[in-house]
Amino acid sequence: MPQYCAGFQDPSGGSAAPCIFAKDGKGGRAYIKRKRDGNCCAFCCVQALEHALNSRFGTRHIVRRLIGWQKQGSPTYKAAFVMSSLVVLPEARQIRLRYKAGERSRFLQTTSWLHKRKVRLRRLLSGRPPPQITKLSEESEQFLRACKYYGRADHPSTDCAWVKLLHKDVAAVSHHRQQLRRLGNRSRHHRRAWWKLRRTIRKCLLPYAQGPPYLIPVAWAMEEAILSDA
Ligand SMILES: [Zn+2]
Repeated sequence: MPQYCAGFQDPSGGSAAPCIFAKDGKGGRAYIKRKRDGNCCAFCCVQALEHALNSRFGTRHIVRRLIGWQKQGSPTYKAAFVMSSLVVLPEARQIRLRYKAGERSRFLQTTSWLHKRKVRLRRLLSGRPPPQITKLSEESEQFLRACKYYGRADHPSTDCAWVKLLHKDVAAVSHHRQQLRRLGNRSRHHRRAWWKLRRTIRKCLLPYAQGPPYLIPVAWAMEEAILSDA
C-alpha cells in the first residue's frame, strides 16, 4: 500500500505542515517505503533525519534527493535548507551537504576571498585555530615589494643596491613561502626551493648580521626566519 509522508512536524511542537519533498521535485508529498522511522520522510522529521545521517546508506539517500532537485532546478532544493529538518543541522554539515549535492560557489575562483582564505575556512570548520601568519614590519614589507616589482614599468624604480642584488631570490623565496602556507607545508617542490633560496640569501646576508641596528634586508630576513638573532 503506498504510503505518503504525514508532513513537517515542527520540532517546537507547532502544527504539521504538508510535506513538499516528493522525489520528482514538484512539491508533492514524499513517498516512504518503510514505516521504520514513523510516517514521515527524513526531511519532515528530525528523528528520521538523525537516523538517516547515522548510516552511510541513509546519508547517500538524502544526498541523492538533493542532487536530483538541484539538477532539475526545483524549488524543493532551496526549501530543503530553509524549511525542512535540515535546518537543525550545524552550519558546517549543511555546507557539506550542499557541496555534495553539487552546489558550488557563485563567486569567481580568482577574486573570491572564499578561494583565498580556503585554508583558514577549512581549519575553522574543522574546529582548529586558523594558521598563524606573521606580519612583516613596514620596512620589510617595502623591501619585499621593491624586490617583487623590481624592473617593472608600472612600479617606481629603486636605487637600493640590496634590491638590485637580491630581488630575484627574495621574490622567489616569498613565492615559495606563500605556496607552502597555501598547501599546508605539503609540497616537496616548494619546500625544497624554499630551503635552497634560504641558504643562498643567508650566505649573502650573514656577514652583515652584526647589530642591532640591522640593515633593512637583514631585518627582513630575520622576520622571515631566514636569519636568526644569534
Ligand atoms: Zn515529508
